Amino acid sequence: AIEIRDLRKSFAGQEVLKGVSLKAHPGDVVAVIGGSGSGKSTMLRCINMLETPTSGEISIKGESYTMRPSKDGGLEPADRKQVQRIRAHLGMVFQNFNLWPHRTVLQNVIEAPVHVLRVPRAEATARAEALLERVGLIEKRDTYPGYLSGGQQQRAAIARVLAVEPHAMLFDEPTSALDPELVGEVLSVIRDLATEKRTMIIVTHEMAFARDVASHVIYLRDGIIEEQGNPEQIFGTPQSPHLKQFISSVK
Ligand code: ATP
Ligand code: MG
Repeated sequence: AIEIRDLRKSFAGQEVLKGVSLKAHPGDVVAVIGGSGSGKSTMLRCINMLETPTSGEISIKGESYTMRPSKDGGLEPADRKQVQRIRAHLGMVFQNFNLWPHRTVLQNVIEAPVHVLRVPRAEATARAEALLERVGLIEKRDTYPGYLSGGQQQRAAIARVLAVEPHAMLFDEPTSALDPELVGEVLSVIRDLATEKRTMIIVTHEMAFARDVASHVIYLRDGIIEEQGNPEQIFGTPQSPHLKQFISSVK
């Protein structure tokens, strides 16, 4: 599970997250929607401590980050080892794939299992092949990322994250860098993962996808959760005028 309590984050004195709380349990698929600059990426980045909160509490799989006051008046992690340990439970998929360019697809997928988790290479390879099969990329196992389409790169990135068997997965606009004709293949891989007992938080501009795959939808506006509910509520009977306007603008 992922639990966030009253998360606040300021950059140079400007508050961009103004007290966000949420709980996501294994099997939950939380879609986060909202306009540009509303704080969606900042929230995800705080969950894995790529960004340190100004205040608030975050716990992953029952373990809260231990924080201490930092010089800038915010917080900083008090225990680097703990951050690494908690991060190991989190798979993060970004907009821009970030695969290792000088490693083949297979080498990308086995990298963390072999070098971080110390899984024997043969075992990691067998498992990677099964994952590449699953995301439809087995025939590209020995190809370098530069020779793949954006959709293929993103599917390889997802396989790489799955290889460490994360407790939770965080997606930050996983399809927004893709040509429209490649979006569907990536969404269908994510849709497939959503059926498993994992916690997923997905920032997306794909409203039809959010409606279809999410168990819970959060509408972030100006650093606040302005409205949340199940997809029928959020997309069918939105209450906030801003949300109504947002939905009609992106549909
Ligand atoms: P988008 O849909 O465009 O990705 P977002 O909802 O992900 O937007 P964030 O990237 O979280 O928005 O940004 C929220 C606000 O925080 C923005 O005003 C942004 O300019 C600001 N911000 C984000 N990161 C930093 C940073 N490292 N330094 C200063 N300001 C930042
Ligand atoms: Mg963003």
